[in-house]
Amino acid sequence: MARYTDAVCRLCRRQGEKLFLKGDRCFSPKCGVERRPAPPGQHGARRRKVSEHGLQLKEKQKARQVYGVLERQFRRHYAAASNRPGVVGENLLQELELRLDNVVYRLGFADSRSQARQTVNHGHITVNGRKARTPSMRAKVGDTVSWVPSSRKGELFKMVSETIKGKAVADWLNLDMAQMSGKVGSVPMRGQIDTKLNEQAIVEFYSR
Ligand code: SF4
Repeated sequence: MARYTDAVCRLCRRQGEKLFLKGDRCFSPKCGVERRPAPPGQHGARRRKVSEHGLQLKEKQKARQVYGVLERQFRRHYAAASNRPGVVGENLLQELELRLDNVVYRLGFADSRSQARQTVNHGHITVNGRKARTPSMRAKVGDTVSWVPSSRKGELFKMVSETIKGKAVADWLNLDMAQMSGKVGSVPMRGQIDTKLNEQAIVEFYSR
């Protein structure tokens, strides 16, 4: 399965803001944006005039990078969002939020979306009692996301059980910390999604 494999801090430096792609490191002085705020590359610090289309493109790229999705899959999410009733921009964010890797991250089972994706890929996660290995799988309201019983004996699970106590869980998810499982309580509304994105710019980008 294709995925972005280059240095992710470059993405934040290119965007000129923190995208929080690396878990704890993003909150430490080691953060790439803190250490080298200029965009990457020899001419990164050059001032450039950005067109309206450029701004829309930048917003679309930011959404892709935050959720760890490549172009083709992002287009699929956009198509799904356009085919649903409601506001396309909000629908798009809901499609992205309901990805299984994002749900695992939002429940606090991983420090970052990339770690959540790996946790799913490695077969540690179940959905409604069945092992799920597809990070892009769309979770539905009422789905229960949990850990595979055999994975509960591993080091990763022990570490997550310790660190989850200090994490904030998205309020559209119901976490049962004792069982280390979570239920999708509702489809998140825009106000419940803390990702800083201008989704309208993304809609305008695809509507050209
Ligand atoms: Fe971005 Fe996190 Fe790297 Fe900072 S540490 S540049 S927020 S990925």
